[in-house]
Amino acid sequence: MKLSRIVAGLPAVVPFVSPDELERDLGYRFAVRVGANESAFGVSPKAVEAMARSLEKANWYGDPSNFELIEALAEKLDVDRERLMVAGGIDELLGLAVRVLLDPGDVAVASHGSYATFAYHVGGFGARLETVLYDDFRNSVDRLAEAAEEHGARVVYLANPDNPTGTLLEADEIRRLMEVLPADCVCFLDEAYSDFLQPKQMLPLDEYSDRLVRFRTFSKAHGMAGMRVGYLLGPPAFVSAIQRVRLHFGVNRTAQVGALASLADDKFIAGVVGEVEEGREEYYALGRELGVETVESSTNFVLFKMADEEEATRVMDELTKRRVFVRTARGDGTRTGIRVTVGTAKERAGFAYELRDTLA
Ligand code: PMP
Repeated sequence: MKLSRIVAGLPAVVPFVSPDELERDLGYRFAVRVGANESAFGVSPKAVEAMARSLEKANWYGDPSNFELIEALAEKLDVDRERLMVAGGIDELLGLAVRVLLDPGDVAVASHGSYATFAYHVGGFGARLETVLYDDFRNSVDRLAEAAEEHGARVVYLANPDNPTGTLLEADEIRRLMEVLPADCVCFLDEAYSDFLQPKQMLPLDEYSDRLVRFRTFSKAHGMAGMRVGYLLGPPAFVSAIQRVRLHFGVNRTAQVGALASLADDKFIAGVVGEVEEGREEYYALGRELGVETVESSTNFVLFKMADEEEATRVMDELTKRRVFVRTARGDGTRTGIRVTVGTAKERAGFAYELRDTLA
């Protein structure tokens, strides 16, 4: 069978090897699963109840327009519903967004080692990704803007707060980026971790709304990664372009009602955010105790800086043997970080115990 030119030219890589897949390869299960930035703090009980009830209606398709969820988001965020699009998580939305903006051969720019799904879709639609280095574990406004200019990029992507570094560019830095980006370059701001921020740390939703697309998810603080639901906020014309290519029944009914219920449960989310803050402090303290530098994080994970790539790989492999799932990550162009999700108190203690022993 003859493959399309674009697909034939793609490397056969999997952007993420999941913990489940690793477990199959290893032949044992992880005791401490802190490598995929999943929430350790469960799902809103109200969402669980709503989802359980919805299962009896699994014979029905979900609402293809995601009407109620979009209505609730529009009200909560105080934005027009024409700016909102819901799909099966940011990962799917990034693909749709790339597809409607990039032609084969077009260029997009992102930081080297940043969240891999964007690069995956850019390649998948035949476009080209140019990368720049982080500046001390932070997305660099200057480097991203210079590369966008140099390559005539159509899109610049950054996760903010960033994955895998955890660092945040505050609103003023995003404003500066928008000011220096070429006028015809769209910025994709992946805000998967925005629930962990204070509102004042974020760029208001009405700024630069004509060339900024913002991506959010129920996978992190809401703890619904397995349900697959996220949304984007973009210019209405961009959102309606997505209507031409999106999968209309892609978001299942149970995910829709779960997201709706979780969105209304501010108290639950505040509790998760509080627990994550406590866990991050514990990881910083562990780093200080072991003489391992950590990167200050605005997310539900912390990057531990190892001496070099060899040491990072050694530590990850050793932790894996001890049934602790973590990932290595790039921060300054090299894969010297160990990225660790904030787990429950018990998981944090388990990770700390094994890391101490590994470094002893
Ligand atoms: N963007 C970033 C920066 C992430 O870290 C993640 C989760 N690992 C995602 C997107 C994926 O989000 P979703 O589950 O909504 O596809």
